[in-house]
Amino acid sequence: MISLKRNTKLELVEALGKRTRASSIYNPGQTEDFKISRGKFSDFLTCQRCFYLDRVKGLAEPRTPGWTLNETTDLLLKKEFDECRKHQKPHRLFAQYGLDHIVPFEHPAMDDWRNSMHKGLMARYKDSNIILSGGVDDIWFDTKKECLIVVDYKSQANSKTVEPLSYLASPYHEGYKIQMDFYNYLLDLMEFPIGDTSYFLVVNANRGASGFHGVMEFTETIVPYQHDISWLDEQVQNMIDCMNLNKLPESNISCENCAYARQRNTEEN
Ligand code: SF4
Repeated sequence: MISLKRNTKLELVEALGKRTRASSIYNPGQTEDFKISRGKFSDFLTCQRCFYLDRVKGLAEPRTPGWTLNETTDLLLKKEFDECRKHQKPHRLFAQYGLDHIVPFEHPAMDDWRNSMHKGLMARYKDSNIILSGGVDDIWFDTKKECLIVVDYKSQANSKTVEPLSYLASPYHEGYKIQMDFYNYLLDLMEFPIGDTSYFLVVNANRGASGFHGVMEFTETIVPYQHDISWLDEQVQNMIDCMNLNKLPESNISCENCAYARQRNTEEN
């Protein structure tokens, strides 16, 4: 995809390929606090080299356009769940899943926790200078077990019905599970009680409808996920060790972007 750099007035400007905000660049061995988001942690798991080039070398990745249709389903779901939150009542979908003892969690910081761009759940990793963060879609409360439940909304348009087992078995959804594990890990670091199950609320657009008619229909499925936070300590430490390296780590051999760059370099020289 070709991405052109624009300033805040949307005028085309020269793309330099480097970030200028010093606070977003980590110096190996630094002792000042440094924030790492859930997305950057996922980048580390995917490719240590790209993560290092981004966080330590300050390279600016090409931007991608916003997913406004997906953001809209998130926004509308948030409105519905906020209404239930206000009245501390279960959502209309819960009864069919035997979840009517669950209500959306009420907390003064909820809007901050859902602000993935600037805030999110936030916790220091052990006694390090690394602050981990991640913006959740929602958190529910189990009134029987008195624990918090992480919820992620997912929007898709797939001709197949959403089946909980196959949904989570897809290699394309591995990242979703990592995302959920990470949010639970953050809540645990923040000393909130977490249970053993998180939920994806998957809304699937009906591609078999007879026409658009100004409306897109969706089915709604709640997919339970037994999260696991046991592996996070080790990988967060690996990530910090990687940031403190003074050399570039290995790249991911399956990455099409790097393969494209290599081939392009060959063709141009
Ligand atoms: S393999 Fe190359 S382009 Fe791909 S993520 Fe890693 S460093 Fe980035």
